[in-house]
Amino acid sequence: MQFSHEHDEIRRTLKRFISEEINPHVDAWEAAEAFPAHQVFKRLGELGLLGLTKPVEYGGMGLDYSYSMVMAEALGDVACGGVPMGIGVQTDMATPALARYGSDALKREFLAPAIAGDVVCSIGVSEPGAGSDVSAIKTTARKDGGDYVINGAKMWITNSLQADWMCLLANTSDGPAHKSKSLIVVPMKTPGITKAKKIRKIGMMASDTGLIHFDDVRVPQSNRIGEEGAGFTYQMQQFQEERLWCAANSILGLLNCIEQTIAYTRERRAFGQAILDNQVVHFRLAELKTEVEALRALTYLATEHYVAGRDVTEWASMAKLKAGRLMREVPDACLQYWGGMGYTWDNPVARLYRDGRLASIGGGADEVMLGIICKHMHTLPGRR
Ligand SMILES: Cc1cc2nc3c(=O)[nH]c(=O)nc-3n(C[C@H](O)[C@H](O)[C@H](O)COP(=O)(O)OP(=O)(O)OC[C@H]3O[C@@H](n4cnc5c(N)ncnc54)[C@H](O)[C@@H]3O)c2cc1C
Repeated sequence: MQFSHEHDEIRRTLKRFISEEINPHVDAWEAAEAFPAHQVFKRLGELGLLGLTKPVEYGGMGLDYSYSMVMAEALGDVACGGVPMGIGVQTDMATPALARYGSDALKREFLAPAIAGDVVCSIGVSEPGAGSDVSAIKTTARKDGGDYVINGAKMWITNSLQADWMCLLANTSDGPAHKSKSLIVVPMKTPGITKAKKIRKIGMMASDTGLIHFDDVRVPQSNRIGEEGAGFTYQMQQFQEERLWCAANSILGLLNCIEQTIAYTRERRAFGQAILDNQVVHFRLAELKTEVEALRALTYLATEHYVAGRDVTEWASMAKLKAGRLMREVPDACLQYWGGMGYTWDNPVARLYRDGRLASIGGGADEVMLGIICKHMHTLPGRR
């Protein structure tokens, strides 16, 4: 990848913002099990960072996806996973389809304030009965006059307890599963929406995750993004940016974890020498760093293909899969070298161990990524 002065500026701005305005508060936000998304997004909006790839007419910068990738990577310096994930939902998960296919009126009403940081948004795909198999979602949006009437539930929705609107995937007809769904922008103050539950998790503590119920929720049909029945396809496209974002966002956290482990094991002594001086330890850390740099190379390559307008379904899936695998392997190996200190709640490596576990599940589990890669390799057996 060739990085420009603008890429470097984004990295510099975020580094400063993270060290001055995010990391000093992370421990308190983790303890509170939520970060103040409106406050953080307002500041990011003022810095021009919530619409890097979005059209200029709506307040964005109109840049290509490599800039979003650089931002996702830079956010890896945040001292927890939950805050970057909430930001990534706003920039790369809930808004790409709206920016690409939404009507001008819809973009003015919902995209422009999301870019300015005046509102918080969420993406509602998963449900209590369907996560990996997106085609099996049950939420319906039935036409009534000029409106849709929405019924169903969305589960695991990041930002949803603070969100002002949700990009919701619902069935708008009874047709074939891949042609019966639409994406609809749903303001969260609409009557009939209940924030039924805040879900307690093992990690990503600073991120709020909700179960949301929809009972006869009425929104205008003009809130639909693009064509009726094209929602499944739009969401699959939107997933490409989500998966690239996840891969890019993993890199610095993993490298920081290795560096923190080097610093600790250099000081900590056992059997008359630094723990780091055991060859099994420094060789393992070298191996892990090599793996993370391979992830970085794969992510950059996938991004290059995406920017060149190629289909990156396979590349993005490989990058997301590799990130998921390393988010389990690296903190697990590093935690071991911290001994009992690694097993304490506030330890940074322990936090990555908890937060990083999500990378193999959210946004498409490892097995779903493997299935996509196999499909592109023509090795997936056909369904009987
Ligand atoms: C903290 C958190 C935040 C999230 N945020 C959001 C969000 O903002 N918006 C949203 O829509 N969703 C969100 N999700 C949901 C997430 O995308 C789903 O959890 C994920 O897609 C998996 O779906 P599931 O949990 O229903 O698992 P299931 O579909 O029940 O799958 C369970 C497991 O089965 C295995 N499996 C599945 N399919 C296959 C297969 N074909 N072959 C072999 N094994 C398989 C996998 O190991 C998988 O983990 C979030 C989840 C979490 C935990």
